Amino acid sequence: MTGALQRMFWVFALAVLALGAPFAAADELRALSRLDLARSSMVETPDGKVNLTLGLSQPIPYRAYLLDAPPRLVMEFSELDFGGRDPGLLGRVEPIRALSWGEGEPGWTRLVAELAGPMSIEQTGERTGAAPAITLRLVRVAAADFAAQVTAAPGGARAGLPDAAIVAAPRRRQTGGTPLVVALDPGHGGVDPGAEAEGLTEAQLMLGFARELKEALGRAGVRAVLTRDEDVFVSLEARMSAARAARADVLLSLHADALAEGEAVGATVYLLASEASDAASARLAERHDRADLLAGVDLAGHDDVVAEVLMDLARAETQPRADGLAVALQAAILGAGLKMHKKPVQAAAFSVLKSPDIPSLLLELGFMSSPADRARLSDPVWRATMAGAIVAALQAWAVVDAAEVRYLRQ
Ligand SMILES: [Zn+2]
Repeated sequence: MTGALQRMFWVFALAVLALGAPFAAADELRALSRLDLARSSMVETPDGKVNLTLGLSQPIPYRAYLLDAPPRLVMEFSELDFGGRDPGLLGRVEPIRALSWGEGEPGWTRLVAELAGPMSIEQTGERTGAAPAITLRLVRVAAADFAAQVTAAPGGARAGLPDAAIVAAPRRRQTGGTPLVVALDPGHGGVDPGAEAEGLTEAQLMLGFARELKEALGRAGVRAVLTRDEDVFVSLEARMSAARAARADVLLSLHADALAEGEAVGATVYLLASEASDAASARLAERHDRADLLAGVDLAGHDDVVAEVLMDLARAETQPRADGLAVALQAAILGAGLKMHKKPVQAAAFSVLKSPDIPSLLLELGFMSSPADRARLSDPVWRATMAGAIVAALQAWAVVDAAEVRYLRQ
């Protein structure tokens, strides 16, 4: 993490809302978290580093970056209520000339620390559990090292930072009160056609299917957004960002790959896992990530910039929800009389499934390497049946998922 931060200069972290938080709904609406001054501090270590600790009423998404002229550390929180307290109560240290906090962009609050000299963010973290807190450590660096990490550009744009929407607060977990929002992600596109056979490309087929599925979801009262709506290359990271910007409840990545070996047929639901369920799944996931690298998108830093501990925390809640959707999809697809792979639910390390806060699944509708599957994928009646099964699965899942939230809140 330390090295990553020295390279990357900014971090952001996402946490799902802690369910059943011990305070009233009115507070929840006003701010996601409150600063606990008694557990907050700013201290200088004997070797001149600055340790900042912000005690929270519950974990929240945040990001941190450096600006120049004057040198500043900016932390943005979604959302932290400072309770009108004086920032001076945090403590006073020589390397921090001034400290302020208050409202930021809509949905964000902000802490700004004016630095006495060039520093860099050495480490960040977020503690969860009984005493949640955000921690950050600043270390003195040479002016050139600071300059290399500064994100400010003329006009205040932050070079290298994603758009605000990308780090928007995760949507509150759906409770059935508002229409479900589903991000449909047609795999591949542009320079990356995906699997190809008999003049068909996976990229084209999946875009066509995603459009049809969007229509079917719309008729069922489910709002669907596409991560791409034309034949263009979209990085895996941008696909996840599109889902987050749409405040999607679910991300469903649509594929129909070719397998070099074996006679694979039928649909397969893929869940995210660090260990692939078999070698074929591992190769499939690798191939999808490689397309991103070939198109000039460096995903290498992606995991580095997101606090791992928070990712794990968020996934601890998100992953069982994705598991539930996988079960619902399997039941609905088989229930509609459609063919599934002999191992209908599998796991692999697909990068596009790594959103910590959005249950994400990858659906291989069939295999382009199978003539029977190709015929099915090209058949409008089969596609309508498959779309209907996916709609039914999402609806059935949403009901159970919302009921779980209500149960947890009691
Ligand atoms: Zn694919």
